[in-house]
Amino acid sequence: MISHKYKSPNFNERDTSLPLKYIIIHYTGVKSPFSDICKWFEKPSSAVSCHYAIDYDGTIYSFVDVQQRAWHAGKSYWNGDSDINSASIGIEIHNSGDEDFLNIQIESLIYLIKFLMRDYNIKYYDVIGHSDISVSRKIDPGKSFPWQILSKEGIGIFSNQDSKNYSKQINKERNQFFNEINQKMLKKIGFDINITNKFDNHTKQVIEAFQRHWRPSKIDGFIDVSTEDILIDVSNQFNMARVR
Ligand SMILES: [Zn+2]
Repeated sequence: MISHKYKSPNFNERDTSLPLKYIIIHYTGVKSPFSDICKWFEKPSSAVSCHYAIDYDGTIYSFVDVQQRAWHAGKSYWNGDSDINSASIGIEIHNSGDEDFLNIQIESLIYLIKFLMRDYNIKYYDVIGHSDISVSRKIDPGKSFPWQILSKEGIGIFSNQDSKNYSKQINKERNQFFNEINQKMLKKIGFDINITNKFDNHTKQVIEAFQRHWRPSKIDGFIDVSTEDILIDVSNQFNMARVR
């Protein structure tokens, strides 16, 4: 089921003081054939790799041994961790970024994540996207990624709150702590954000990243009614899951 046909030299030792706890999902973001992706990961000068990549036909290729630190995340942060490459397994799905993911790719992805969660004791809520950990720098796996399908398989956190109310008239008293409350929820989820109580440019970028994952029908960086409802729900789900 997993091919070892191609290997990448682009890895080093994991920092063993950090537990392996995340699975990071990516898309390749290029239209070229999958063989070009393989050549890119095989090339030392590219200095990039991943543990696994999934082709259009659903075949899973292993490029770097899970025991090693692959180079897929770059500058990143999640919930207090900044060396995400040391603490994660990186999975690339071959997708240009402006096409739908294929069912067969998602089936392979679910199969792969389930066995990785089991073998490495990775928690369902620690399966996240590159855009979550590299805000303003990365947008993959993108707004078409089917997080809802994964959540039905017990992977990731998903909100069933209504996602279509784009009204900016937040149905509660706006007070001077409005931004602070939202920033605190985003930080609790895991995003790289400081509590400034100001709607600054970085806060807008974090809200965009949040929407890309949890409210992809409209990504504008502003808090509207459904963004706020989903933010409260997702933040509560993370809190409950982590204390369990
Ligand atoms: Zn990526």
